Amino acid sequence: MLKKFRRHLKNCPHRRKGRKYTKCGCPLWVDGMQDGKRIRHSLDTFNDEQAATKVLEIEAGDSTVKVLVSKAVQEYMEDCESRELSDRTIDGYGRVLDSLVLFCKARAISWIGGPRYSRDQEVSQGKRRIGFLEEDLH
Ligand SMILES: [Zn+2]
Repeated sequence: MLKKFRRHLKNCPHRRKGRKYTKCGCPLWVDGMQDGKRIRHSLDTFNDEQAATKVLEIEAGDSTVKVLVSKAVQEYMEDCESRELSDRTIDGYGRVLDSLVLFCKARAISWIGGPRYSRDQEVSQGKRRIGFLEEDLH
């Protein structure tokens, strides 16, 4: 687990309070274990929100991706429309996913994650699927 902290500057009046004190404007750092390795370095920001985002990105690593729940739902619905599913099907998915977004909001769940997977992979998988169907039809 990674934690951000403020690395107090020599002239910070809160320096003696230690890294748990975060209400000053000192540089933000990250510290913790990630995949069995110790991580401790500057996050190159004084902004708490930017630091939190950077920590999430570090935790996500190269092999996984984190996406806002609302963004994932929006992209999925756009995908359904691009596949020209029927209005009835799209409305059904929309109702279920609206409930999911509300469920996540009520539990302060903002991010979902999973293996990173590129548009190229998506396209090649689609082609394979289409190829399989074509083989099946002939
Ligand atoms: Zn400070």
